Amino acid sequence: MIEREVRPIPVEEARRRLFDWARPRAAERRPLLQAFGRYLAEAPVLPEDVPPFDRALKDGFAVRAAETEGASPEAPVVLRIAEEVPAGGWPKAALRPGTAVRIMTGAPLPAGADAVVPVEDAVLPPGASGRAGEVVHIVRPTRPGAERQPKGGDLRQGSAPVEAGARIGPAEAAVLATAGAEEVAVVRLPRVALAVTGDELVTGAGPLRPGQIRNSNGPMLRALFAGEGFRVEDLGRLPDATEDVVRAIGEALEAADVVVTTGAVSVGDYDVVPEAMARLRLEVLFRKVAIKPGMPLTVAVRDDRAWIALPGNPASSFVTTHLFVLPLLRKMAGARRWEPLRTTGRLIGKPAERPTWRTRFWRAEARLKEGAVVVDAGRSQTSASISSFLGTNAFVEVPPEADPAVGETVTVWWIGGCPG
Ligand code: AMP
Ligand code: MG
Repeated sequence: MIEREVRPIPVEEARRRLFDWARPRAAERRPLLQAFGRYLAEAPVLPEDVPPFDRALKDGFAVRAAETEGASPEAPVVLRIAEEVPAGGWPKAALRPGTAVRIMTGAPLPAGADAVVPVEDAVLPPGASGRAGEVVHIVRPTRPGAERQPKGGDLRQGSAPVEAGARIGPAEAAVLATAGAEEVAVVRLPRVALAVTGDELVTGAGPLRPGQIRNSNGPMLRALFAGEGFRVEDLGRLPDATEDVVRAIGEALEAADVVVTTGAVSVGDYDVVPEAMARLRLEVLFRKVAIKPGMPLTVAVRDDRAWIALPGNPASSFVTTHLFVLPLLRKMAGARRWEPLRTTGRLIGKPAERPTWRTRFWRAEARLKEGAVVVDAGRSQTSASISSFLGTNAFVEVPPEADPAVGETVTVWWIGGCPG
């Protein structure tokens, strides 16, 4: 017998139960160039300092800064050009007093040089072309360290600047490549299986019979998962029949780390999810959350696999996927930070709604205005509407019984993406 009267648990309690339960999958090695968007399992250590030598930050002349003291166009300091060092070259000798080395951006400084005078501050005598043996007139003094990047000034040998759990994006790719990592250890991506339930659902084109609607949750969830690189096995639509659901989800749990379904999770006569979970002998982490939209959200687990049963209402499944499913998948995928970014913001628009005992997540548009975050939730917040989340990039979290006024500071969840 399935318990029908269940007390919804607070949102944070439900999220904690789920994320405490979740574990990262195993590590595997992948070519760096095929690991974008994945989470690092081991942090590669830099085999050398970056840069590996003192180098010039500008084209110009490597000098001893002290020798340029007092230089001006009227009284230039005249130095003899000892040699020329291109990027990829190496100075033949240390810098001797009274000399300069013509140097290109990225080239190693000779020993004894502590600054680079940029070409703008160096004048060649008429007819000279800056070759070794000629002289250069320095017309402006420099100081030690100017236009010079010291060995290890960017990153230090032996350090691991990209930590385990970081998502490999452009900056991480640059640092990992700098560490010489052709292959990296990343966490295996969780396998997701997706099914929608509902006898009323039609996928794709074709005329609707009376009572039918088109399946929007399937494509919405596919887009949400694809947006973060999670691959999905799409099981299509399941009928509202316990037998079929038990069979399909039972099979899906053999292969998938996470099975996501929508619908059939409330307490209606056709809501077969609770019964199916019992039949599959899953451990229910929670059934019903004190959240609006999304109260029927139910999560059950077996070993290290989970079945997340999202409510069928489009806005409910949209919100609960952002708050529960994507963070879960990120954590399973090895993310160090799996939570969406949260900030505060000033409420500039609100829906016509009464306070409730549930925590509300208003679909909203957030942006910067005059240097501060403003957030507009002045739109329909109906769980049954797709239009409620079209064009939204944020949720406004409204605590139980709260009724924030326009102008008040509220908590903003940014759902445009997740920092690595
Ligand atoms: P349920 O949770 O199954 O009771 O569904 C709640 C509401 O969401 C009903 O109006 C369903 O028709 C609707 N719904 C369920 N699944 C989908 C779907 N995949 N796409 C669009 N609407 C859906
Ligand atoms: Mg249904």
